[in-house]
Amino acid sequence: MRALIISDIHSNLQALEAVLSSAPEHDDVWNLGDVVGYGANPNEVIDVARQLGGVVVRGNHDRACCGKITIDDFSEAAADAITWTQGVLAEGNREWLRQLPAGPIKPAKERVICVHGMPRDEDEYLLYSGNAQAALDQSPAGIIFFGHTHRQVGFSRKGRDVLRFKPEFSSRDEAKQYELRLRKGTRYVLNPGSVGQPRDGDWRAAFAVFDAARALFTWHRVPYNLSTAQRRIRRAGLPDYLAARLRSGQ
Ligand code: ZN
Repeated sequence: MRALIISDIHSNLQALEAVLSSAPEHDDVWNLGDVVGYGANPNEVIDVARQLGGVVVRGNHDRACCGKITIDDFSEAAADAITWTQGVLAEGNREWLRQLPAGPIKPAKERVICVHGMPRDEDEYLLYSGNAQAALDQSPAGIIFFGHTHRQVGFSRKGRDVLRFKPEFSSRDEAKQYELRLRKGTRYVLNPGSVGQPRDGDWRAAFAVFDAARALFTWHRVPYNLSTAQRRIRRAGLPDYLAARLRSGQ
């Protein structure tokens, strides 16, 4: 069983297309949420996500864009993009967002769970070892896949010690991958990174592949048509900052 793990696409169609065309063969797709918000192609991205099927956990932007929660807790630029998205969403896509389940979701057969933020609080950011420790205390799963922070990062726990680690890539502009061999008796908390708005200083679209049979987790980075994504954001009248930040990956 091989799962393609994607998260935080944020209406970036160009990034999503690059991810799908470079992803290796897989049997399932696990989407950790925030399909929409920030970017300029919410309907197109939802159409693709619906076609992909698999597991989809809802994110905070997904809930705001379909009107389930208010924009009060969002930054000004995020709130502007949410309001814009609400205005352009096709009715069927709004309905699709509304019915997305909260995490944790356990994909069939695997001893893993998918969440947006944390197992017990879908809106909480999992940033530090202490958060990872708490997440592992909240769930019996062997591996927790999470999103929300837009950073490729992982934590492992063997006994009481929690270790934090990140992928290292040999280039900043080509497609690259980084393999993590999963050890028996160790539990993991893993973020595939953000497809459409990375915040770990790397502009490339991020995703991961989990190979259960080979006990292998692989982080990927892939370049995408950044200037088109930026142009669409500017043309839609969204805040310029949302286009600019894609270049810096912050
Ligand atoms: Zn997000």
